Amino acid sequence: MRNLFYLFFILINVQALGVERLVKTDSELKEAINMAKPGDEIVLANGVWNNTEILFSAEGTEKKPIVLRAQENGKVFIEKQSNLRISGQYLIVKGLVFRNGFSPTSELISFKKDAKNLAYNCRLTEVVIDNFNGPERYSPEAWVVLYGKNNRVDHCQFIDKRNQGVTLTVRLNSPESVENKHLIDHNYFGFRQNLGSNGGETLRIGTSHYSMMNSQTIVEFNYFDRCDGEHEIISNKSNQNTYRYNTFFECQGTLTMRHGNETLVEGNTFLGNGKAFTGGIRIINESQTVINNYCEGLTGNRFRGALTIMNGVPNSPLNRYVPVKNSVASNNTFVNCSYIELCAGSDAERSQAPQSTTVENNLFYQSQKAQQFGLYDDISGISFKNNLVNQKGKMPTESGFKLTSVKAERDANGLLYLTNNPDNVGAKLEGKVTTREITGVSWYPKEKDSKAFGIGKVHDVPAGLNTLSDAVAKSKPGDILNLTGGAYQQTKLVVINHTLSIISSKKSEITYENAVLFTIENGGSLLLKGLTMDGRSSLDSPLNSVISTSKYSMNQNYRLFIEDCEFKNLDVNHSFNVLKVAASTFADTISVKNSLFKNVTGSVLLLDRELDDIGIYNAETVIIENSVFEDVEGSALSMYRGGSDESTTAGFLEINHCQFKNVGHGTKNPVNSSINLWGIQNTEIKNSLFVDAKPIKIKLIVGEPSSVVHDICLVNTGKIQVEGEGFSSQNIYESASSCVNGDDGKPLGIIK
Ligand code: CA
Repeated sequence: MRNLFYLFFILINVQALGVERLVKTDSELKEAINMAKPGDEIVLANGVWNNTEILFSAEGTEKKPIVLRAQENGKVFIEKQSNLRISGQYLIVKGLVFRNGFSPTSELISFKKDAKNLAYNCRLTEVVIDNFNGPERYSPEAWVVLYGKNNRVDHCQFIDKRNQGVTLTVRLNSPESVENKHLIDHNYFGFRQNLGSNGGETLRIGTSHYSMMNSQTIVEFNYFDRCDGEHEIISNKSNQNTYRYNTFFECQGTLTMRHGNETLVEGNTFLGNGKAFTGGIRIINESQTVINNYCEGLTGNRFRGALTIMNGVPNSPLNRYVPVKNSVASNNTFVNCSYIELCAGSDAERSQAPQSTTVENNLFYQSQKAQQFGLYDDISGISFKNNLVNQKGKMPTESGFKLTSVKAERDANGLLYLTNNPDNVGAKLEGKVTTREITGVSWYPKEKDSKAFGIGKVHDVPAGLNTLSDAVAKSKPGDILNLTGGAYQQTKLVVINHTLSIISSKKSEITYENAVLFTIENGGSLLLKGLTMDGRSSLDSPLNSVISTSKYSMNQNYRLFIEDCEFKNLDVNHSFNVLKVAASTFADTISVKNSLFKNVTGSVLLLDRELDDIGIYNAETVIIENSVFEDVEGSALSMYRGGSDESTTAGFLEINHCQFKNVGHGTKNPVNSSINLWGIQNTEIKNSLFVDAKPIKIKLIVGEPSSVVHDICLVNTGKIQVEGEGFSSQNIYESASSCVNGDDGKPLGIIK
């Protein structure tokens, strides 16, 4: 009897466990899904699955979910044109790696089969998506899209999203997806490059259209690692969501309550480490609660402040800015954060200051200078109570801040706490600080290969015919090609498709017969040092260049560094440029130092190919130092960033100790200026000399641009032409005799 009972028990148990089916082909997989019963496990065999579009549509139960998983974690790779749809009840997907490909659809992993068949109580766990991007930079693709209700995404790893489109998003576009109560936890959101456009959010919940719906999604214990896509790391766009115990490490953006009310932002850690544009929390809309968060080393200002409370639009339409009301920011800690921004974005449209909002019990700890508070409108609707500052400075109100010298020490997580805290100010995060290690999976690396210059091997390259292109073709990422001196002739294009340095300490001159010498293809970055590039043998046709980007869309940002180089005789035909970029390409940094550009019939740096006026642009940071531009028919620099979108940093330029002589006078110079800047957010031009040059033209739009020109001499050069607000200048001289030293005490122009 006892044995019989035992047998019965086993039978029951087998049924509870269900059937395990190992599948090796797409058709076996399809069949297994069709046959799946509650409790079954469908096991994808180890190996590479190419062009696999999985529709996991089935009905499990709460006690007996249906599992689709890798045979072994990290050994099942979904590649090429592949995607995954999940639809039904109680389904679990586990252990897959998506790499070396991209989805043929705009949603890679979608929690729906179609508009009618959504996913409920389903789970995506321990899934890795690594650089699964289409080639088109501005063709939107989302990696994970949640529909339905009660779904969970946990312990996943999302690395290197490169093109436009949110990494993970929750949609509320039908009644079945409202009050969804999804859970997004313990995920690793890895590096995401600066997109240079709106649409680079890492996580978004809702859209403006459905922003007054309740979502009730919880986002907790996730790690956001250098998510630099755009200034919304998280874009909250629906009601009643919770963001707690997440860590934001060196992210250039903020957790933004863009739309929707009743958001809880609690116990998160934001660590900027002084990296530029790192931000914290941005409050917009009503009934928002921001408590017990820890922010340190955040440098961002304006919409990227450590804490930003926005101004709103009276009777705002859904897609603009609902005024802040009935909101609270309390018991947060800010350590060495550069800016707290109050009534940010105040302008003719955003004219409504925050109302009935409380800022209390916060700790503003600065090890050196006083906390900076930006006040952009009437702050009387914000009540400040019992906030503590430890350095004397200008506070928003007298009564709401207490100045006390305090003692603080770091805990096991490295966070700073007051050793004596009778007023109970600041955050307490014991046991709730998310580390990288507790997120994502343990069986797949979180770090990507370094793309730094100079980390590879040094190879000597002798002078001769095509010796340079041969050496480049054989090089590895990070290598240094050392030109040993003499004449280098190129009849072949030199194609740069990884990070490469080409340097010379002897006299090395490169001539070429094509229309272009170097092209930077997707994945490439180039450093040139100590070289002479002479255009005299190049193709006798217009629109040549020395360096160009790929003519196709590049989904990876590139860097171009030019140092101690000479570019000359770029005059075989008209419109010969030094750098020519294509649309849908983006440079993180272009740096030119100690270089000479002489006899150029086109322009030197043309970064103005994005003309759609939707806020896309070609380069983030441009630095030009100690360089000479002489006899250049086009402009020395043209940088363009059109439209009024505010979600990017929109360009930085610094020109220091340069000389512009006879620049911009060519009849084919389309910008009719020596330097043409359109919509660039931050520029500084200083200590420079302009002789017989066309004027500098500056157009200021988008947000709060800052453009400063100082300590320059304009000899026989028109006055600076400025349109828009945000320009300032001083020490502009107009004759050679009046030019004195620059702001650093050194002569204007180049320093020999
Ligand atoms: Ca955005």
